[in-house]
Amino acid sequence: MTGTDVPRSTVESERLAAISRRYVPGGVNSNVRLDGPSVFFARGEGAWLWDVDGNDYVDYLLGQGPAFLGHGPPDVLKAVEEACRSGMVYAAQHPLEVEAAELLVRAIGWAEMVRIGSSGTEVVQAALRLARAATGRPKFVRFEGHYHGWLDNVLIAVGDDGSGPASEGQIAEYLSDCYVLPWNDLGAINDVLERHGRDVAAVLMEPMMMNAGAIEPLPDYLEGVRRLCDDHGVVLIFDEIITGFRVAPRGAAGRYGVTPDLATYGKAMAGSWPVAALAGSTELMERFGTGAVNHSGTFNANVMGMAATVATLRRLEDGSTYEELNRVGGALMKGLGDLAESASFPIHIQGLPMAFHVSFGEGDVVDFKGLQAKDDSRYRAFAEALFQHGVWVARRGIWYLSTAHGDHEVEVTLERVESAFDSMQGDGTGS
Ligand code: PLP
Repeated sequence: MTGTDVPRSTVESERLAAISRRYVPGGVNSNVRLDGPSVFFARGEGAWLWDVDGNDYVDYLLGQGPAFLGHGPPDVLKAVEEACRSGMVYAAQHPLEVEAAELLVRAIGWAEMVRIGSSGTEVVQAALRLARAATGRPKFVRFEGHYHGWLDNVLIAVGDDGSGPASEGQIAEYLSDCYVLPWNDLGAINDVLERHGRDVAAVLMEPMMMNAGAIEPLPDYLEGVRRLCDDHGVVLIFDEIITGFRVAPRGAAGRYGVTPDLATYGKAMAGSWPVAALAGSTELMERFGTGAVNHSGTFNANVMGMAATVATLRRLEDGSTYEELNRVGGALMKGLGDLAESASFPIHIQGLPMAFHVSFGEGDVVDFKGLQAKDDSRYRAFAEALFQHGVWVARRGIWYLSTAHGDHEVEVTLERVESAFDSMQGDGTGS
């Protein structure tokens, strides 16, 4: 079946979903997945996915980012397969983790050491703990719309009356350790550090606000944050779990030319394998090495993850990947904009060719409040129409590109987008 043959069959997905809901709460294993169609994918290859009913999709969700090299990249698969034949976890060291660490330090550019972990959530915690240990201070500054994992001290919901826990069962007091500020507003950080700087260990941010709006830092903002952190002796942590290896070979730090003290990586760094890393100076990172600061994990630097990291970083080393991503993603952004204009849809596209955000409503968004003013329900109707026509995107507006997307995928996507727009005009969600 092709993308434009709608309605597409969902019989097998529905059958599996019904069984799954019996054994797995909500039928999903990450709450993020409650927000989307209950589809079961049978396989992926390159930029494509096939569901269990045989429908195909051009994939712009990419597993929430990790499939940066597309699904099943042959070189990474081969490296992992060969490496894990001789064992997978040793509770000791393996030569591949040295190779991965050297490649990571070289690729990141500004860092001297890395610690490997298994998820983004976990390495963010390691960064915060290290910052507290280094400064002897308890608090940190973070920002509305930024996501740093699902644990009690970082998971927040932001509403009109401020921020608070986003989940039942969360220990609300843990959130009193952070000041939650609007992002892209240097004055807000200045005020907090002027008043409370002596208690602040770290400023933690996504250096480009990917989790809400694909918002780039305003000119001079990151430089200003760097300066304020230096003035107040605060550790600057860039959470590059999405931006790392995606927006430039050296991530957002390289792209915007501002160096943090610590940075976290995950997703794109290991060709879809579950690997994360914390990077920083020897001076900070050695606290793990002496045992003064604890960071542990049974699966950290397992053989598969390290083989995948090495193969991925080798692929990205020459930098040509990013030129092609710019070209292909740029063509997609332009094509989407042109189609929306001729269908009179008030679509707004912002961000970078390798990760951009689509919303309904005029004007650039520079912060979380601006994003909240966009027409979310209309975008969700668009995402549903795209799903029906064979384009797989997140409900929250982010579109990720992989190195496996090319001219063919863009062409097919635009045909399917046009059909999705037509269907929205037909059912009233277009006007
Ligand atoms: N930090 C950022 C910026 C993220 O986007 C995410 C996940 O999307 C995390 C941390 C948490 O990573 P993980 O889901 O691997 O625990």
